[in-house]
Amino acid sequence: MKAECNEAIDAATSLGASYADVRIINYRKESVALRNGTPSNISSSDSFGAGIRVIVNGAWGFASTNQVDTASLKSTAERAVAIAKASAQVKKQDVLLSPKEAVEDIWCTPFTIDPFKVSLEDKLGLLMQIDTILRKKPEIKVAVANMQFAREKQWYMDNEGSFIVQDLVRSGAGYSATAVGNGDVQIRSYPQSWGGNHKCMGYEIVHSYDLLGNAERIRDEAIELLSAPECPSGKKDLILDGPQLALQIHESVGHANELDRVLGFEANYAGRSFMLRDLHNTPGGFKYGSEHVNLVADCTVPGGLATIGYDDDGVRAERFHVVQNGIHKDWFTTRETAPTVDREHSNGCNRADGFSNIPITRIPNLSLMPGEWSYDDLIADTKDGIIMEVNKSWSIDQMRLNFQFGAEIGRVVKDGKITGIVKNPNYQGNTPEFWGACDAICNQDHWDLWGVINCGKGQPGQTAEMSHGGAPTRFKGIEVGIRG
Ligand SMILES: [Zn+2]
Repeated sequence: MKAECNEAIDAATSLGASYADVRIINYRKESVALRNGTPSNISSSDSFGAGIRVIVNGAWGFASTNQVDTASLKSTAERAVAIAKASAQVKKQDVLLSPKEAVEDIWCTPFTIDPFKVSLEDKLGLLMQIDTILRKKPEIKVAVANMQFAREKQWYMDNEGSFIVQDLVRSGAGYSATAVGNGDVQIRSYPQSWGGNHKCMGYEIVHSYDLLGNAERIRDEAIELLSAPECPSGKKDLILDGPQLALQIHESVGHANELDRVLGFEANYAGRSFMLRDLHNTPGGFKYGSEHVNLVADCTVPGGLATIGYDDDGVRAERFHVVQNGIHKDWFTTRETAPTVDREHSNGCNRADGFSNIPITRIPNLSLMPGEWSYDDLIADTKDGIIMEVNKSWSIDQMRLNFQFGAEIGRVVKDGKITGIVKNPNYQGNTPEFWGACDAICNQDHWDLWGVINCGKGQPGQTAEMSHGGAPTRFKGIEVGIRG
């Protein structure tokens, strides 16, 4: 593919591009889903194409093709250059890219079992077994079990001397049971909602969660919720499990720190941010959370959905603090935006959805670092609290400041003991106040990475994947049980 990459770059630069990059991508995807024992989606798809991005007269141009041959690459480069020339007529200033190292490299997701070599019978067989357990009780009206696998092979080249080959493998599985009765509908999911958990790894993820072993519990909890009391209202100590914490990180830290939103370039999908640059002038730094809060971006962490060798600027993946001991440190940047926050280099957060989209600022893997607590000790230390597990709903304002989130199940904690479950648990807060109320985080033994596979952004819309790591975490005096 190096010859094709060279053809694209040569075509673009000979037409006057001062900068050019090309990404040739082969994307393979497989979905297997069962709904009430019947296959609802068994599909596999393959796509192949090239996207060419250029700077001409100080402005961006981009075009893509699903024909990777000499003639198509040339005409695609011509279109990208023509778009850049048109854009240059209305530019406010020239695009300037921060420097980066030129590299020739190959990067592959480490995995043990190739998910595309596991038979459909084996995949369906496991989902069928799960379905049988979930629908053993008549209250369960909808049981959904699914698996998804993707393999993305990318060839990247730019006119600054980089040529990078990446081979990424993503796998995931999960299920949910919806119970109906007592005038109510309740859902429980495992290992998390919205399609299960996904990681950059092979089929071994399916074995890493005890999918079968948890099916009975999940089914019975969905049914129990039908007659459980409503979540109490008032201020409580709130303990979030990993999956709910992941969504909290995603919405109130992830999107808030995408620098394009901060700069006002991007305003779709609740798109601005309160995390303005001037907040760094606060004496001692801007306090994003309590001293326990360390939020680390890391596209090198094993298993993360955004774990890559290089982003789509060809910048090497790195690990950096967004919040360190509660103080805000950094935003997510691209080569273009990094200089606006006095960064010499981009921290590698520019990613595109496939070959046919231009890269945009994306949340990387972003995790709350583990603390010292064992889960049992955390519960024993909580007098009047509620544990909320697995996300059910979310709402956050466009500045990423005020939010309300709902979970599938709540567990009441009284004087250090779990005393029962409640339904429709939810909580609300304000981003820095909420993270400021964090007073205890469980240790590494309770920590896992939780994948987001449907992060929507941009116009035309793009979807991206990333993971958020977390262990059960306590926040003091949070407003819970919001009605109406
Ligand atoms: Zn998102």
